[in-house]
Amino acid sequence: MSDPDRIKTVDASPQAQGAISLYAKRQRIQVKSVSGRFQHIRDATILGTMGLYLGLPWVRWDGQQAVLFDLPNREFHIFGLTFWPQDFLFLSWALIIAAFALFFFTVLAGRVYCGYVCPQTTWTRFFQWIEQWCEGDRHSRIKMDSAPWTASKILRRGSKHLLWLALAFLTGLTFVGYFSPITDLTTRIFTLGWGGWELFWVGFFTVATYMNAGFMREQVCLYMCPYARFQSVMFDRDTLIVSYDEDRGEPRGRGAKKKQHSDTQVEKGDCIDCGLCVQVCPTGIDIREGLQYECITCAACIDACDDVMDHIGKPRGLIRYTTENALEGKESRIVRPRLIGYGIALLLMATLFMVTLYNRVPLQVDVIRDRNQLYRTASSGRVENIYRLEILNKGQEPQRYELTLDGPDGLRMENRTEFTIEPGQHLSLPVTVSYDPYEVEMASSTIWFTVTSLDDPDLEKRHESRFIAPRR
Ligand code: SF4
Ligand code: SF4
Repeated sequence: MSDPDRIKTVDASPQAQGAISLYAKRQRIQVKSVSGRFQHIRDATILGTMGLYLGLPWVRWDGQQAVLFDLPNREFHIFGLTFWPQDFLFLSWALIIAAFALFFFTVLAGRVYCGYVCPQTTWTRFFQWIEQWCEGDRHSRIKMDSAPWTASKILRRGSKHLLWLALAFLTGLTFVGYFSPITDLTTRIFTLGWGGWELFWVGFFTVATYMNAGFMREQVCLYMCPYARFQSVMFDRDTLIVSYDEDRGEPRGRGAKKKQHSDTQVEKGDCIDCGLCVQVCPTGIDIREGLQYECITCAACIDACDDVMDHIGKPRGLIRYTTENALEGKESRIVRPRLIGYGIALLLMATLFMVTLYNRVPLQVDVIRDRNQLYRTASSGRVENIYRLEILNKGQEPQRYELTLDGPDGLRMENRTEFTIEPGQHLSLPVTVSYDPYEVEMASSTIWFTVTSLDDPDLEKRHESRFIAPRR
């Protein structure tokens, strides 16, 4: 019998509530290799990305490594230009341009960056090539997974992992080679002369590459990459996406010829349900279920399906690059206001960046007034203002400079006006500006310090400051 005073309880356990577990065990994806027009383009862009990454540190420019981020000296060398932490603006600017380029290409062609040039895609594809070379095609690999450990399996698996590690090590070595001269770094492998940080970072990137491209693969795209999450806000109904033509493909079924079902009178669509589009997908999705955030627009399913269509004598394009509007039979415009807007912004920023970079003067001058006293009167009777000039030679050559002063007549500098600064060096120069109050009358006024290179007169920087005179 139930007690009327007792508070009613509800069994809230997951079992009683029929809760669904949010954890799903990872299904290992064995990707089938495919060839076709889009895969040829992908191979070219992926080889280009890898070639650029591995080759760039070996390029020489004016006798030194063309791209070197020399952190201990805080110098960033890029094809003859030297950037300093003070040039951080250029880096921010370059990142903003890269972000706009990403917006532009995403609005135009969806996740084309992911499928064609992303480092995760690039390295994974290289690792897959190695895997296929060592262990055979998808079918052989699936068989090998469940086969007992034989000498052949150990040899094939072992060589795959050795080659993966070799590529991962090369990746780590190259990464550190962007920060520490790569010829020297490579030579020091043989003398065991690496420092602690070099060992750490090469090791870190070796392990990260080995894990990401060898084991995690599509998991990085699905769960770690932020781009996959926010890209959908950049899509619109005219963005190019990889899509399955449901009207043409359904109802799917085996058999190349259209059949009439005697009872339903339904004609089969063009999809023969061969499953190849799923087997070649690096993220393991079925594009026939509609656009999914897991799709990296690699177009492997397009190439696979086109091949099937060729074999059964149907027109290509059951899976194709298209837009949502085009799929619904509506007018679709690739060139549209949003795209033009991003394009103009991108072009303007890139042009301004190039112009600013071209006109960049590799010299920095900062003037700091003495904060302790506005002015002082020397024993000679002259009224003096004290400044400190911070001068940085941001060029690649030593420079002889001359310092000049512009301002009211009667002002003069009481210190040396010629000096030499080595490349990358900075000079802190105390400067005294004075006038004789018995000779001229002076009011507080604006003055300018100009530093000009005696070796290259075009190299000049001018800085404004203030001269403070006593009240009369
Ligand atoms: S590859 Fe083409 S025909 Fe085969 S299942 Fe996919 S969509 Fe259908
Ligand atoms: S659905 Fe097609 S385009 Fe998208 S990731 Fe898979 S194979 Fe690539």
